[in-house]
Amino acid sequence: MTGIARAGYKGPLRLLVLAGCVAAMALRAGAARPAETADVAWHPKNARIGDVAWLHVRDVPDGATVEGSVDGRRLTFFPYAGGQAALLGIDLETKPGVRPWRVAVVERGREPRSAHGTVRFEARRFPVERLTLPRPMVDLDPDAERRAQGEAQRLTTVLSAASAERLWRGRFTRPVAGTEPGTGFGARRIINGKPRAPHGGIDYSAPLGTPIVAANTGRVALVGEFFFPGRLVVLDHGLGVHTLYFHLDSVAVGEGERVERGQTLGTVGASGRATGPHLHFGAQVGAARVDPAALLGLALGD
Ligand SMILES: [Zn+2]
Repeated sequence: MTGIARAGYKGPLRLLVLAGCVAAMALRAGAARPAETADVAWHPKNARIGDVAWLHVRDVPDGATVEGSVDGRRLTFFPYAGGQAALLGIDLETKPGVRPWRVAVVERGREPRSAHGTVRFEARRFPVERLTLPRPMVDLDPDAERRAQGEAQRLTTVLSAASAERLWRGRFTRPVAGTEPGTGFGARRIINGKPRAPHGGIDYSAPLGTPIVAANTGRVALVGEFFFPGRLVVLDHGLGVHTLYFHLDSVAVGEGERVERGQTLGTVGASGRATGPHLHFGAQVGAARVDPAALLGLALGD
């Protein structure tokens, strides 16, 4: 009895064990075929505050969609070198540290491929500039204050309207001739003893009347004569990239006009709040105020 019982018992147990093995093998087979990941490269690997970084997602077939975010901020991708790329601007007032990113490639008839990781935003020291300016240019009367605020609002509105088409191609070019690097990006300014907003662009000193050219192909998003920036031109290069040109003496383009890289926008002046003739050149990527030098150094190959 006992023997038979044992034998009768062993059978189902062995089956059970076998079934368990098959299940484990199936699981292992599933694990051995890794979930497909998206192929993402960061340039540079670790960016500094004020930099323009970019992600390159390789192997993206036509018709596939790439979506992604850095620190919860959505990225805008465009076709690039057999894959897709997106620019990431790191605003000059961003806190240094490690931020999460994620990317997903979605295409018909295939499991979505994704990738995620972290990127480090490295600290950068900014100069402190102490300036003394005529009091009416700093301590504004209520009318001037209202005007400056309205203009700042208008600028924000223009800069937040990103045209969906990528107009920029290849390298961004210096807006004035010469080799001297622009100065003062991110400078924490103390004007007449009071801390003010950091300097959002770089300044090129140049003689009055020096031609100013478009840094890249784009559309003229704004021409104006504002209290602080003076005569200004803002170019929309598409997908959230803008360049700004302040303190002009004359303007040679009109709003809505399409301009090519190197096309004259106007001439260097000292309009608005300026201590002498110079070009204030600014750059924005998305909502981030970035170092224009970083935009000029951007090395996307087309
Ligand atoms: Zn400036």
